[in-house]
Amino acid sequence: VDRKEAAAFLGTTTEAIKELIQKGALLPVSQKRLKLGAMEVDGEWEIEDEQFDAFQKAFNDEEPGRHPPAWVIRSLSVEARHRCGICEQPLPLQFHHIIEWSKLKHYEPAWMIAVCGGCHDKIRRGEIDRKSQEQYKEKLRLRSADVVALDAQFQSLIATSAALPILKELLRDMQRVIADGADAASIGSDYTFVRIEEKNEINRVSVEYFDEYVLEDEVHVAAFDKLIKDPQNHAIKESYYCVAADLRERLLSLSANGIGFEFAFIKLRDHIATIVGNMNSMELRMLKALIAFMYVNCDIGRKA
Ligand SMILES: [Zn+2]
Repeated sequence: VDRKEAAAFLGTTTEAIKELIQKGALLPVSQKRLKLGAMEVDGEWEIEDEQFDAFQKAFNDEEPGRHPPAWVIRSLSVEARHRCGICEQPLPLQFHHIIEWSKLKHYEPAWMIAVCGGCHDKIRRGEIDRKSQEQYKEKLRLRSADVVALDAQFQSLIATSAALPILKELLRDMQRVIADGADAASIGSDYTFVRIEEKNEINRVSVEYFDEYVLEDEVHVAAFDKLIKDPQNHAIKESYYCVAADLRERLLSLSANGIGFEFAFIKLRDHIATIVGNMNSMELRMLKALIAFMYVNCDIGRKA
């Protein structure tokens, strides 16, 4: 390892590593001074893996549990691409136990996450709860190579949908009806018939994400609700349920692969837009709102 890597592993700066090499640090219990072994090569330091592991082990032996083994640190750092797993800033990393050390003495990377000092403090203060931590971890996991494969699979799944031509028409009709008769005051955000918190949990959608994704288009989402329920719009309603049924089936096979809806929301819109082609910004906005409506109306996604 070089100085930079050592700094990343220990969640500190390259300057601090220089200090550790030249002056060492006091061990927490015995208060003995220990230097990090290194070899000077062309004015820079090379630290052998063994030297690095021995240094960490000395600290761990005195205070078991506070210093994860190098392989765990390496694995978590790589997973997070050497950025904070929460705020994504390239800051020195700390290694948080999602399943608390006090509850289970583990170094299981699957239950740990690399975070910066600031986010680690937020966790300690309870501002980032356990469920959020798990979702950040899940995001890191999904960002790996599997996602690329799943994305391609999802794309071909959507591409074969017979409902897409109907969808394009549907968007046009909805746009027209909303433009004609949308009375903002009468459009409430009444989808309280669905227990949305529960539905989000089952479909792995965080509250923040839902607020950002769905509530941004709340007016349109509510307008769709009104539009579908109006007996005058019988034809629109039929097209709507035809499209929704088709997408529901496709999404079910996706969720069988363990993909949460946060991923599906975005990908569904992007892939449909690509395949349908030539969608203007208004149609894209409508499409996003339509997908959100299908979700809150429980026509797609797992039900609460
Ligand atoms: Zn952070």
